[in-house]
Amino acid sequence: MKVALTLSIVLFFGVSQYLIAQVIPEKGDPPPPENIPAYYKSTLEEISEQVKSVKKGTVAHIATSAGGRPVYAVYYGEKDDFQSQANYNSAVAARNPAFFAKKSTATKPVVFLLGPVHGQEVEGMAGLLNLLQIAETGKDHRGRDFTDLQELMSKFRLIIVPLANPDGRARNPYDSYVGLPVEVMTKYGQGTKQDGTLWRWPHAKSLHPMRGNVGILGAYFNDDGINMMHDDFFDPMAKETKAIMDLAKEEVPDITVSLHSCECMPFVIQNAHVPRFMKDRIADFAQQLNESFIRENLPHRKGDYSLARGQDDPDTPKAAFNLVSALHHASGTMSFTFESPHGTLDDGATHEEILDIQLTLYRSILEYALENRLVWD
Ligand SMILES: [Zn+2]
Repeated sequence: MKVALTLSIVLFFGVSQYLIAQVIPEKGDPPPPENIPAYYKSTLEEISEQVKSVKKGTVAHIATSAGGRPVYAVYYGEKDDFQSQANYNSAVAARNPAFFAKKSTATKPVVFLLGPVHGQEVEGMAGLLNLLQIAETGKDHRGRDFTDLQELMSKFRLIIVPLANPDGRARNPYDSYVGLPVEVMTKYGQGTKQDGTLWRWPHAKSLHPMRGNVGILGAYFNDDGINMMHDDFFDPMAKETKAIMDLAKEEVPDITVSLHSCECMPFVIQNAHVPRFMKDRIADFAQQLNESFIRENLPHRKGDYSLARGQDDPDTPKAAFNLVSALHHASGTMSFTFESPHGTLDDGATHEEILDIQLTLYRSILEYALENRLVWD
């Protein structure tokens, strides 16, 4: 695969152009969609520019990826002191998470919006760059007024990681999948074997780290072949994963969402390995969110859509203890996965709809977090 941008030693945030260059599709693949709207920003360069423009929040470089690229977090709202005296699971064993973090109604609610760990899932990146623009200016990149959402955000300690896997993003040649066949997303997302056949979902998880029988390394993975969704959370292989886990332990979010996409109508995936009370909250939120999509005439699930609340794997395990499970058990956060449509021919969502789905999700999370605080005192 060729590198789309010429190499240069121009430094930008200490990152050379080489590190923000992206590949182009192989011969025979469909060309990238024409007329991607300017507001649909997701390239490494656009992410760097957006982060550089932050004035009301603060920016931290929380990790350097396996390929040497920066992972950024943007913070809004003062951090409260939760007077931690124990790690989360010890505090729970002492029968009160307040020993881990005193979260009362006097402390601000905390929300952690974790941008894509899968580099082809550009939809969450585009959404979070628009949210950062709203935080800074009150308007999204379409120029639409969102001062009400900006006002809502000001009630929170809000942490935004616009992209958790810059290596994967650099290997993804498409800045949008709107109108493309899903097969091309599968090729560059999960990658190919040496004979050119596609790894596909979920088989792309059967070799981890993804090394050896690899033709194109999918954008799922960092440059070491790690899929952060399925890292070893007791001994993380990727520095990016470690930074995400540390951030949750430090910030103690009421809610954490991990942003993903598929050829699907938008939905929340239940967190398979959290206590029942947390599954109930996630199921309640998922239902409310779907009702918001219906009200706003956006792509949605059926009106009676609901998530499983109590089931565990009956015999052989199928539901993994994944990144969002680990985040809960490290910090107590209400953590779940959200899947957006990609806009492929299979789901048919437009750029406008995808951005509105993202903004509706963020607003719904903030509203839910305000009304359903994690109070530990
Ligand atoms: Zn994903």
